[in-house]
This record gives sequence, structure tokens and C-alpha cells, in this order.
Amino acid sequence: MIRKTFFINKYDYGKNVVDLNEYVISFGTNCNLGCEYCYLKFSKTPTIPVIYKNYQKLEEEAKVLFSNSDRELFYFNLGETTDSLLTEKHFEFLQKIIEIISFLAKKYKKFCYIELRTKTNNILKLNKNLFFENMKLIYASSLSLNETIKKFEHNTATLNQRIESLKFAESLGFYLAIRLEPIIIYPVYGIKYEDIIFSVENIIEKYKSLIKLVLETINLKKIHSITMSTLRLTKKQFKILKERKSKLCFFEMFLCQDAKFRYSRPIRTTIYNKIIEFIKSTNDEILKKTLLSFEFDYIWQDCNLKIKKLTDVKDETQNC
Ligand code: SF4
Repeated sequence: MIRKTFFINKYDYGKNVVDLNEYVISFGTNCNLGCEYCYLKFSKTPTIPVIYKNYQKLEEEAKVLFSNSDRELFYFNLGETTDSLLTEKHFEFLQKIIEIISFLAKKYKKFCYIELRTKTNNILKLNKNLFFENMKLIYASSLSLNETIKKFEHNTATLNQRIESLKFAESLGFYLAIRLEPIIIYPVYGIKYEDIIFSVENIIEKYKSLIKLVLETINLKKIHSITMSTLRLTKKQFKILKERKSKLCFFEMFLCQDAKFRYSRPIRTTIYNKIIEFIKSTNDEILKKTLLSFEFDYIWQDCNLKIKKLTDVKDETQNC
């Protein structure tokens, strides 16, 4: 399929949401992994996953971006409009894009991070080390609790498979990113007001175990960043899912300034604060790489987190 609109776009986070300074490369669209909350199902996209083949257009856009900008560092996210590693074709096209960006980054004296974000374990099929000049590749795994995966992320890899994949990606030379997105409170459907605290505490404890497990498994020096955000749904999604009696929606979700429904501020800040506290107690250095995602500045403040961008996070080589 031919892409007619831009391949490369500055990420549009939405009104008053903190900008993490990413560009999205939309090399494909749609995904058949079937996450119940996925915005792609509610957008105008082809009905099956597609890859855009006209990479010459992407090359032209990257040239313009690099030649017109004084900045030296770019962060590209290749997992926004499709799962980065969904199929073999995704792999093939990704390699092409990475070669193009690497060549141009060198030519225009830029440095790039390329994030490949996935809920699969398809990286296990990749049997080669990837090294490119003027860039670092980041393997970003969205980690969810097993019960969330079973309920809402139907065809995706299990938590253990996702963690195993992180370890494997590390062995291939990738930097690693942990994406705790979206954090979903469960159960919420049909619960009473007084049961919310239990559901929230329950989720926090399970996330602590998840984080402990992953931090014990991977090389901490290879972590580029940890981001977290709780569930957010567009107005349209919220309406449709509520009508379908989806177990995602409940009465403690409110419309925010960016026109997305989220859990209430006290719920979000409680979850973030407890997780941040836990990360700090486990490894203080990792806290410097921890960011909120798709949140407002007042939530960062509630969590005593200094606002930073993905391009501000210092990796292993910069720390030396
Ligand atoms: S893996 Fe990502 S892109 Fe695919 S359905 Fe789930 S949320 Fe959507």
C-alpha cells in the first residue's frame, strides 16, 4: 500500500499533555492483536494490517527533517500506528527504515533513538545483531499483568514471554524500554464505590511484583527508560465500550482536557506514586529514567517527578 500522508510526524499528545519529544514514523497501520482498548479499532484505518511500501517518501521526509533542524538528537517511535514487530513484513520494512535513518543521521550529523514497541515475542525469530551508525535501537515491551492480558489483550504474548523477549533483545544489542501502558484497574465493572480502594491496591501490589521480576531479569544498564500511564479512552471509545458493558469502563473515569477519559486524579496519582516509590526503593538510578506518559504537568507535580523528555534520559554511554 502507498502512504499518501506524512510518514514522519511530531507526536501529537493532545491538549496540555506533557510532550515527551517523540516523532512517530507510521510505516504501517492497524494491528490484529485485538487489544480491547486499542484506538486503532475506532479510527479510520484499513481493516487489515498494512505496510506502506513507498519508503522513498519517508527518505525525503527524513532528509527535510534533518536538514531543517538545528537539533542533534531525535527520538523516533515506530510502534504507534501498528505493533512494530507484528509480522515478518514488519521486520523487513523496519530494517529498511533503520538503514535509511542511519545513513541520513550520519550524513546530517544527527543522533537517533529508534523505538520498536511491541506486545509480541516475535523478536525471538530475529537471529542477528543489529548495529547501525549514529543511532541506538530500543526494544520497548509493553508489560501488562497476566490477568489484563487474558481479559483485554487477546492475541498478545504472555507476560513471561514479553520479559523473555526483553532479555533476548538485550542479547542482540538493543537498549530496552519498559512500557507500563496502559495500567488497567481490574476488576471495576459492577463494583461498588467502597471496593475501588481494594481494586487499586490490588493492582499496585501486582505491578510491584511485575517490576521486581523484570528488573531482576534484565541488565539494568541497558534500560533506556520506563514509562507509565493509566488507561485512557477517547470519548467515542468510552461511549461504545460502555454500551457494550466492557469491563474497562467504570464510574471513576472522567473526561480530561485532551478529550480522553481517564481514572480520577487521586486514583492515577496513587498508582503512580506507589509505583515510583517502589522503583526508588529497588534502584534509585532507574528512577531517573522513569517518566509518566500521556499525563498532565499537575500529575507529574503530584508525583514529585521533574518533567523530562525521552531525549533527556541519559543512557549508559552518556553516564560514563
Ligand atoms: S498491540 Fe498495540 S497496536 Fe496492536 S491491538 Fe494492541 S494496542 Fe493496538
